[in-house]
Amino acid sequence: VGSLPFAPRPVALSATLAVNEAIARKRAEGVRVLPLGFGEAGIPIHPALTRELSSASDRGGYGPVAGSAALRASVAGYWSRRGLPTDPSAIVAGPGSKPLLYALLSSLGGDVVVPAPSWVSYAAQASLLGAEPIRVATKRGEGGVPSPLLLADAVVRARARGRDVRAVVVTLPDNPTGTLASEDTVRRLCAVARDQGLVIISDEIYRDLVHAPGRAVPSPALFAPERTVVTTALSKNLAAGGWRLGVARLPDGPFGRALRDSLLGVASEIWSSAPAPMQHAAAYAFGEPPELVEHIDRSRRLHAAITAAVADRFAAAGARVARPEGAFYVYPDFGPIRDALAANHGVRTAADLTHLLLERYGVGVLPGSSFGDAPALLRTRVAPSQLYGDDDAQRLQALASPAP
Ligand code: PLP
Repeated sequence: VGSLPFAPRPVALSATLAVNEAIARKRAEGVRVLPLGFGEAGIPIHPALTRELSSASDRGGYGPVAGSAALRASVAGYWSRRGLPTDPSAIVAGPGSKPLLYALLSSLGGDVVVPAPSWVSYAAQASLLGAEPIRVATKRGEGGVPSPLLLADAVVRARARGRDVRAVVVTLPDNPTGTLASEDTVRRLCAVARDQGLVIISDEIYRDLVHAPGRAVPSPALFAPERTVVTTALSKNLAAGGWRLGVARLPDGPFGRALRDSLLGVASEIWSSAPAPMQHAAAYAFGEPPELVEHIDRSRRLHAAITAAVADRFAAAGARVARPEGAFYVYPDFGPIRDALAANHGVRTAADLTHLLLERYGVGVLPGSSFGDAPALLRTRVAPSQLYGDDDAQRLQALASPAP
C-alpha cells in the first residue's frame, strides 16, 4: 500500500466507536441524532471527583505497575465490603478495564468462551491475540452468562477440534441485554468451570448500577474464588470512561498469584502504570464517600426509569424485550414484528433496522450482530445514555411504534 510492499493488518473499528462516528457525521450534516449506541451514563462527573483529580495533577512520575498502594488498599476495601475479602496484593490497576481484559487474555494464553450475545470487545480481543472466541448462548432473561448446560458441551467439542480452551467470560449485569443472571445459574457455571478446568473472568463494570429491586450481583468469585478474576472501573457508575481507570481483582491461591505476575509482566510492557492523578482520584472513589454513593444512587434510579420506559415502548410496538435489571441497555428482539418491518420498510436484518432507525428517526443504535447475535434476529441494542427532552421522547415513541 502506498510506497510500502505490504498492507497493515486489517482491524475494524470497535462497533460501539463506529456507531459514534456515524452519529458524529450525521450531526456534522446538521441532523439532530439521539445517540443510543455507545455505553455511557447520562450523568455528569461529580465535582468532588474532579477536585481529587485536580489536586493530583502535579503527579507526573510513573508509579508501581500494579497501581499505587493507596489505590490498591481502597479497591481491596471496596471488594471486601461486597462479601469478597480482598488483600491489596490481589489488585492490579490499569488504564481502563478494556486493556486489563486484553492483558488478562494475553496472560491466560488460550481460547476463551464468551456469551452470545456479549459486549463487543471480548471476542474481538481474543481474535487479536490469535485465540478463538467460542460463543455460547445465554438463557433468555439471563444475559451475560453462557448457559451452563451448553458450556460443557461447547468446551468438550472445541477441545476435540484441538482448541486450548482456558477461560470463560461473564458480564454481571450484562451489556448488551441489561439483564442479571441468577445466583443458581452462576453457581452452575462455576461447577462447569471447575469440572472443565476453566478460569472465569467476571466483568462487573456495571455492578453498582443494578436497579432491579432486591437483586445483587452473584459474583462467581463468591463460589469459585480460586479461579475467578473480577474486573471493574469508574467508567460506568461515575461516568468517567474518558479518564481511563480500571481494576482487576486476581483469584486467591497459587494460580491467582501466578496470573498476577504474568499480568504485571504484560502491563509493564504495554502501559507501565495507570495515570497517576487518576489513581489518586480512583483511590478516593473506591473508598465510597457519601457524596459519590449518593451520585451513583441517583444514576441508578435514573437508569431504572429510562430503561423501563424505553423497554415498555418497544414492547408496546410488538418487540420482545427482557425486563431491564441493571446498566443502561435495552435489547429488544424485533423478531415478532419482522414481517411488518419487512413488508413496510424492506427491513430484513438487524443492520437494515439500525440503518432505518438512524436515517429515518435520527436514533443511533447498534445491531445485535455486533454482539455476536445472528444478524437475522433483528435485535438492536439501545443505550439510553441521555436524559430525554419532549422531542426525544416523541422520537422514541415514533421509532417504537409499529411500522406504518
Ligand atoms: N466491559 C463492558 C461490559 C463494557 O460495556 C465496557 C465499556 O463499554 C468495558 C468493559 C470497558 O470499559 P473501560 O475500558 O472504560 O473500563
